Amino acid sequence: MFKHPQTALMGRIGALIADHGWAEGNAGNMSVRLDEGVRAPKAKRGAPAVAMKLAFPKLAGRRFLVTATGQRMRDIERVPAQALVLVELLPGGGSYQVLWGSGRPTSEFICHLAVHDVCAEADPDMLAVLHVHSPHLIALSHLTRLQTSAAFADALQRVHPEGCVILGLCGLTFVPFMVGSTPPLAEATRQALTSNQLAMWSMHGLVVRATDLEAAMDRAEMAERAAQLYLLRLAADPAARGLSDEQLAAVRAVFCPNAKI
Ligand SMILES: [Zn+2]
Repeated sequence: MFKHPQTALMGRIGALIADHGWAEGNAGNMSVRLDEGVRAPKAKRGAPAVAMKLAFPKLAGRRFLVTATGQRMRDIERVPAQALVLVELLPGGGSYQVLWGSGRPTSEFICHLAVHDVCAEADPDMLAVLHVHSPHLIALSHLTRLQTSAAFADALQRVHPEGCVILGLCGLTFVPFMVGSTPPLAEATRQALTSNQLAMWSMHGLVVRATDLEAAMDRAEMAERAAQLYLLRLAADPAARGLSDEQLAAVRAVFCPNAKI
């Protein structure tokens, strides 16, 4: 058993995500870049090098604890060695070796690594990447008029003053629909999260980068609640306007005068 506080935390966060209804079946995934000093098991004798569709040379030698492909968020606490995988990127960064766990990383692993690549260089305190199928955000991403970063962020901010602060501090990018697990989506996510911390994959789900998984969940919960409020407001009265420009500016002036969005 690989004993590290992150395995227990992933179990707790996985259960929370399942409770929220953000992980139907085996949906959703998360990863954490481990400190270089963390003691990890050596690769099993004969463990194969697994090639990836993209290479991340700067991450060679780094270790990641990541949810395993085909596994359920709700099972992490019960069977961590089945639901999680500890991997090390091999020299060149284009392949990895499994150090612990019986499976392989999530099929979205290259998207996670693209974000870790950005963080390792520009934001080294950001160690966690989280992807969830938060339903209200996904529903909102189907609305054609909201399919830009500015429009999507504006919609969320006008219904939730605290969400406005989080979004202002963290920034959000809207990513047009792309097929999951593919290099184009990984590259788009890298671009999206170079300066911002939330990326909305259109008609798919949310990706968040943060210092740790607790902080990533905080941001995801805030954004998802804002999306829920937007849709409730729309159902109650489509003419309701939400926060005015003046009210939005007043909130930002107090809590996030240097808002990114
Ligand atoms: Zn997904």
